[in-house]
Amino acid sequence: MDLLSTSTRNHFESNKTALELATLGATRLTIQNLFNSCSLNVRNEIDERRKERTVPLTRSGKVSSFLEFSNLEAYQLTAAFYQTYTLLTKDPDIEKPIDPKAFLESYQVLSVTYDHQSCRDHLDINRALSVLLKIREHSLKMVKCQSRECHCLYIVKFEKDLTVCPFCGSRNRESGL
Ligand SMILES: [Zn+2]
Repeated sequence: MDLLSTSTRNHFESNKTALELATLGATRLTIQNLFNSCSLNVRNEIDERRKERTVPLTRSGKVSSFLEFSNLEAYQLTAAFYQTYTLLTKDPDIEKPIDPKAFLESYQVLSVTYDHQSCRDHLDINRALSVLLKIREHSLKMVKCQSRECHCLYIVKFEKDLTVCPFCGSRNRESGL
């Protein structure tokens, strides 16, 4: 017999996921975006992390350089994160609400595959969520470079038809004209 009811277990699981996200630097807003609430122990964890941190996670200078051609690492990390998340959830266009557990797992995969510090500098966990949310609300999209030697994925503003691949410089037109 189950000692815990399904709803209690779900609550317990959500709280565990939220706590892990907080240890990776998730802000209260990120947690609320994912769970619609932020429990006291998660809030405490966020406060503890904030006290320990000497450099803020998302620096204002970094925000403006994010997704600029000079920052290929950000492009690379964003594409890798997006691919991992959509593979795990089998939701390539991010039509469903963000799955917090798959989101956490995707970020953990990213931090293991790439240098942890590089993830923090170029795609911290809060920015990773905002990218997924922006794709979901159609303000950003992923484009695949059509150059035969490249085929890299990169992120652009949703309304753009003609884009330039940050990795190889090819011009890609989605409408195929
Ligand atoms: Zn390319």
